[in-house]
Amino acid sequence: MALVLVEHEAGVPDDASLQALALARELDPGSVLDALLLGADGAAAADTLGRHGVATAHVAEHEALTGFAPDAWARVLVDLAERSGATVVAAAGSERGNEVMARAAARLDEPLATNVIEASGSGPWTVTRVRWGGSLLEEARLDADRALLTIQPHAVTAVAMGDGAASVAAFTPQLDSGDLVVRASERVGAPTGGVSLADAKVVVSAGRGAGSTEGFAGVEELAALLGGAVGCSRAVTMAGWRPHTDQVGQTGTKIAPDLYIACGISGATQHMAGCKGAKAILAVNSDPEAPILSSADYAVIGDLHEVVPAICAAIREARAS
Ligand SMILES: Cc1cc2nc3c(=O)[nH]c(=O)nc-3n(C[C@H](O)[C@H](O)[C@H](O)COP(=O)(O)OP(=O)(O)OC[C@H]3O[C@@H](n4cnc5c(N)ncnc54)[C@H](O)[C@@H]3O)c2cc1C
Repeated sequence: MALVLVEHEAGVPDDASLQALALARELDPGSVLDALLLGADGAAAADTLGRHGVATAHVAEHEALTGFAPDAWARVLVDLAERSGATVVAAAGSERGNEVMARAAARLDEPLATNVIEASGSGPWTVTRVRWGGSLLEEARLDADRALLTIQPHAVTAVAMGDGAASVAAFTPQLDSGDLVVRASERVGAPTGGVSLADAKVVVSAGRGAGSTEGFAGVEELAALLGGAVGCSRAVTMAGWRPHTDQVGQTGTKIAPDLYIACGISGATQHMAGCKGAKAILAVNSDPEAPILSSADYAVIGDLHEVVPAICAAIREARAS
């Protein structure tokens, strides 16, 4: 039996969790696939999860589980995995998924394979996983009674199959104060006007070349014109020009838009690890030798403060005519 931790927003499962379900389902097509959702509103995901092959959606309801509490989530996951005898326990390779699974592995004293893109076998398992920010694929043998996995976002396609709903099994988990030492105390929404960076079809990012918070004005305008989201490099978040929620990369959000427009970004491997899933990359850079040009499908060599407004003007003109 496989158990997948499904992250959700008010009962809407996120894509990366649906991708984790797809990999768990492929790993053992004949076995039962269950999901764990934290928070009472998780029950609303039953229809979607049923279409993705889930038999039972276990919904943990507890007053302390309204926000992110990694150790509490790990305890609930571990308790359910042990109770249900799950031989595969998986989650999305998101920040939360990786943190919860690392804590679950420590509690179980079992090995965890993170950022997996392929898995086969039934103990031992063979897994292929992404290492070093995407510059290396490692094939590893996972010798354990239970496979603990996180699935690299955008590496597996989430495919809906049937149309039946998953059955919902709500329960109140047992938690101690020690499980709740780490808890999110506040949640700040991403300032992207509703288009999520992870799911946007177009992402317009800028790096150190933007020069300042105000230097993002053109980038914001272009993203708005294209119905996309604004992203940035870590140089920008380190400088405090944009929040961490906007950061693309190994330690930021992993994106897979149809078009990624990277302005004033050099193309460090840690940045490219977050955008290598993009179908097309347009680089705007004043340096014709910038490393990002070797990954870009299109490039404009020039000052982003001139090039980006020119693109915006051309779009507005084309739409007006
Ligand atoms: C463990 C670790 C994790 C990391 N995780 C991430 C991550 O998740 N995401 C990430 O982005 N980085 C990450 N980094 C940092 C990464 O190594 C780079 O330092 C960072 O990506 C550089 O950001 P940048 O391209 O904006 O800046 P720079 O490397 O300084 O590049 C600026 C670019 O802008 C161009 N430019 C300058 N002015 C203009 C202009 N007016 N018009 C056009 N182009 C211009 C320059 O030619 C240059 O190519 C990580 C590093 C480490 C060690």
